[in-house]
Amino acid sequence: EQVWRKQMRDAHRLVADLYHEVLMKTEAGEVGLTYLRNRDLTEETIAQYRIGFAPDQRRFTVELLERRGFDLEVMVEAGLISKSKSGEYFDRFEGRVVFPIADRDGTIVGFSGRAIDDRQPKYVNTAETPLFNKSELLFGFSQARATMRKKKRVFLVEGNVDVLQVAQAGIQEVVASLGTAFSPQHARALSRIVEEVIICYDGDHAGQEATQKVIRLLESSPLDVQILPLPEKTDPDDYIRQHGGTHWQQFVETEQLSVLDFMNRMLRRGKNLNREGERIRFIESMLEEIGKTNDSIRRDLYVKKLSDEFEIPLETLRSRIPRPTSSES
Ligand code: ATP
Ligand code: MN
Ligand code: MN
Ligand code: MN
Repeated sequence: EQVWRKQMRDAHRLVADLYHEVLMKTEAGEVGLTYLRNRDLTEETIAQYRIGFAPDQRRFTVELLERRGFDLEVMVEAGLISKSKSGEYFDRFEGRVVFPIADRDGTIVGFSGRAIDDRQPKYVNTAETPLFNKSELLFGFSQARATMRKKKRVFLVEGNVDVLQVAQAGIQEVVASLGTAFSPQHARALSRIVEEVIICYDGDHAGQEATQKVIRLLESSPLDVQILPLPEKTDPDDYIRQHGGTHWQQFVETEQLSVLDFMNRMLRRGKNLNREGERIRFIESMLEEIGKTNDSIRRDLYVKKLSDEFEIPLETLRSRIPRPTSSES
């Protein structure tokens, strides 16, 4: 194994440990701890995810790594520090609460840093590095792993803090993709462990768009997909803090929608189904969605539902389902 690769890993462990200590035990970290407490996160959760704080100093991490004999060029490549055009090394996450991101084995390979004041951007994540591949990593994966195996399901959320709150509410099988889109590699990694993905993205327009993208992406995977629609302008973190963890646990079990129910809701939005043209378009798009469903029972149930609602004979609807999957029926 390359020496630099081991250096990058060792440095991440060292830096993560130190950021965590700064947060938990030092005066420099108090602002970070206060921030997390104000977001209703407990010390137990903070410890479980080894959250830390990067002191608000331009060269704290640079000096630490230098002192420990790490090659600073390698550290820049690892994304732990940055380098200015004039060749000066400086910290990357300074003044931020840091969430370590681990690979499948639990080895820390990057960080996501959240501002605790008005500084922009709100989040700074490790850029692509030889160890850090966004389309393969999921925040919370190593903490969720055992429960995912046991329950055969995983909740997919948008943000790091959502992961923390959902886990703190007693649902340990929760992960987030890192601000970027959910990828086929993510789907593959999860499908080795779970049978079901429950998409639980933010209740805003962006969240709904992203939900549909995940649905499309998982169409060709063996995973069952459920959607947990959240109220407008709410993410799981908001929901749990407003209603409490017990209510959340109940909410997630009772409010899940199948893909077809979710699409039904989406496709109805903004349409006046009393108008024939819009009604027909709605029915056609629903039939298209039904055609993508592998489960023949689910498919039949849905055709029946449409047939009842719009008083169209079953056979007419069935004959209009585009490219029915022949393998299962
Ligand atoms: P918070 O609750 O801390 O304000 P959030 O998770 O609700 O954050 P969103 O705006 O919903 O934030 O974004 C979801 C996720 O996308 C974030 O957790 C973060 O990983 C990523 N993200 C958000 N804003 C940025 C940004 N400016 N740069 C990089 N990643 C970002
Ligand atoms: Mn969002
Ligand atoms: Mn959010
Ligand atoms: Mn949020």
